[in-house]
Amino acid sequence: MAVTLDTDLSRVLGAKTAKAMAESLELRTVRDLLRHYPRRYARRGEMTRLDDLQVGDRVTVLAQVTRVTTRRMRNRPGTLTEVTVGDGAGEMQLVFFNRKHGNLSQGAWGLFAGTVGEYRRAKQFAHPDFHLISGDDDEDWARALIPIYPASKDVSSWVIQKSVKLLLDAAGGFGFVEDPLPEDLRTRHGLPSLPAALLDVHRPTSSDDVEHARERLKWDEALTLQLVLAARRRAAALEPGTARPRRPGGLLDAVDAALPFSLTEGQRAVGEELAAELDRDQPMHRLLQGEVGSGKTVVALRAMAQVVDAGGQAALLAPTEVLAAQHARSIAAMLGPLARAGELDGDPAGTRVVLLTGSLKAAARREARAAVADGSAGIVVGTHALLQEGVDFADLGLVVVDEQHRFGVEQRDALRAKGNRPPHVLVMTATPIPRTVAMTVYGDLETSVLRQLPSGRGGVASSVVPVSDKPAWLDRAWERLREEVAAGRQAYVVCPRIGDDAGASDDDPDEADAPEEPAGEDDKRPPLAVLDVAEGLAEGPLAGLRLAVLHGRMAPEAKEATMRAFAAREVDVLVATTVVEVGVDVPNATVMVVMDADRFGVSQLHQLRGRVARGAHRGLCLLVTELPLTSATGQRLTAVASTSDGFELARVDLETRREGDVLGAAQSGRRSTVKLLSLLEDEELIAVARAEATALLGTERGLADHPGLAAEVAALATDERATYLEKA
Ligand code: ADP
Ligand code: MG
Repeated sequence: MAVTLDTDLSRVLGAKTAKAMAESLELRTVRDLLRHYPRRYARRGEMTRLDDLQVGDRVTVLAQVTRVTTRRMRNRPGTLTEVTVGDGAGEMQLVFFNRKHGNLSQGAWGLFAGTVGEYRRAKQFAHPDFHLISGDDDEDWARALIPIYPASKDVSSWVIQKSVKLLLDAAGGFGFVEDPLPEDLRTRHGLPSLPAALLDVHRPTSSDDVEHARERLKWDEALTLQLVLAARRRAAALEPGTARPRRPGGLLDAVDAALPFSLTEGQRAVGEELAAELDRDQPMHRLLQGEVGSGKTVVALRAMAQVVDAGGQAALLAPTEVLAAQHARSIAAMLGPLARAGELDGDPAGTRVVLLTGSLKAAARREARAAVADGSAGIVVGTHALLQEGVDFADLGLVVVDEQHRFGVEQRDALRAKGNRPPHVLVMTATPIPRTVAMTVYGDLETSVLRQLPSGRGGVASSVVPVSDKPAWLDRAWERLREEVAAGRQAYVVCPRIGDDAGASDDDPDEADAPEEPAGEDDKRPPLAVLDVAEGLAEGPLAGLRLAVLHGRMAPEAKEATMRAFAAREVDVLVATTVVEVGVDVPNATVMVVMDADRFGVSQLHQLRGRVARGAHRGLCLLVTELPLTSATGQRLTAVASTSDGFELARVDLETRREGDVLGAAQSGRRSTVKLLSLLEDEELIAVARAEATALLGTERGLADHPGLAAEVAALATDERATYLEKA
């Protein structure tokens, strides 16, 4: 039979197996099956460490039957067979009702698959699937290494193993598999051919085989990924944009004159970089990374001013209404009369700053949209609402996306499409991005970094408050907070939940109240809630202080009013959800107490504490948890408390979040192009692949001579883009 990578599995395996594979594992074609790599390999005498199995896990183990006992059940009719399997390293019980155990007899080897359960403190499988390895079975089972595949209830590991064998037999080997990697690249990096690598990964004879094969298969993933990104960069570079040169005597000069501080070295340098890029008729695509508090906003504002001076409009996209409103307010304040062109006290040489969010009343929205459409609003600040139909710009010249991690590529594209020609794009993020992530998830952007914080910052000290171990520390925490308030400062108390349980559904869609990492290991009680905590504090440890609450379920006007009151120091303590996470800027706030800190992710905590590192006074961040410090989560909190190096924390974050979350469905065992590549371990490979990809696309013929590679790229670009790029 002529088999190709695109052959439907039903033609090779038969309809029934093919259907099960498609439905439960999304494996449809020969390519899908061959790219479905074993998760690990079992060896006889090396049973999966039973201690490592978690109740609830679905696993496949290779083991030998050591004992079989059958007895009548006492409370109901029928028999119960208990089979003990093990291999000296450990033992496990298999339980079968009514002789559904085939011919399991002492001494037999087999693969056993099922969900790990627990009975009288011993791990067990209740009626697992199994496959016995008998003498007359084909040579498959005589192999030293038995592949264990990501499997499902309907398609077990050994069915996949047999299917690969069937395919091999039907096609007469993997010779039909065309190698997408150019030969000279393979030679230069000492990589085996794809057919050889596939054979070794599916049917290895030694662990060395496996290692070589995996190295090569990772190359496929890394190169394809980088080609997609390089293609995006090239396409972007070829787009015709509009140059927005600097014009003296306009808004930009006014901004510079109005700044109450002098720019840091970094702000100045990045500013020059941006100014030069805006002056080109090729649209800028730049990622600005800068620690929390490094002063990205003013860098963006200066770029926006340059564009307005050149006759264009600039849009600033923020992830929450609170933040959008704050930006609009501070920009308007900084520009003064220059932000009120057309108004009585406005400067006719200026422009208008317009806020456009989902919660505007119809009339206000109409007015805002009109100002955007006729160009009188030079600076437009908003949330997702900016992306909606019906928002038309007269001449959109620059899009600034603040705090990128809440926006995906698609949204960036939607906004870009609103320009007559592609506008310049500046993406800003405070979440430090490890190099590998910058090269993958953000690989289509050039990068600038603000390393330095403005001088005169007090910085922030953090500690963990383990309330179960040291209950007195929490009292001390509230005392510290009161001391700060007595000294004229303000504080935040952050909780993971709003409370008064209306479901998440009635949250303002613009707000992100939910912590990015839901509950820890086994959640016994619901996370602490803003409303409850605020009440408890007002009557207890913080009695007498001026408390206010802030969360995503409040009406926008109420939120706005609360933020204003806090900024105006009419409120001492703001009890809030993570709505305060991004960008909220009240330099007088110096204390942050995070309740149930274990419910938050690492980068989220880092963001949060950035809120109290903004002024000249030293900030204090207390991470309150009921978990012991020795737990994994406790240690993660200790890591957050012990360093303020965002890049170090980004690494901790990547480790704890499992890369699957970052690079898409990589770990789920489902169909995905990125399966083996690891953001933590393959930094070098990713960098080399990036260089190779850029070089390949830089040649005159591009991928024209590499149809196999072009096909892989096309496949990734269409069906994977959404999955892995959106996960950012
Ligand atoms: P982030 O990079 O986290 O968005 P912001 O742009 O909000 O930081 O800036 C944080 C604070 O630092 C703001 O109050 C801003 O006015 C102030 N700031 C920015 N640049 C400087 C500077 N060069 N010197 C002193 N303060 C600055
Ligand atoms: Mg900011």
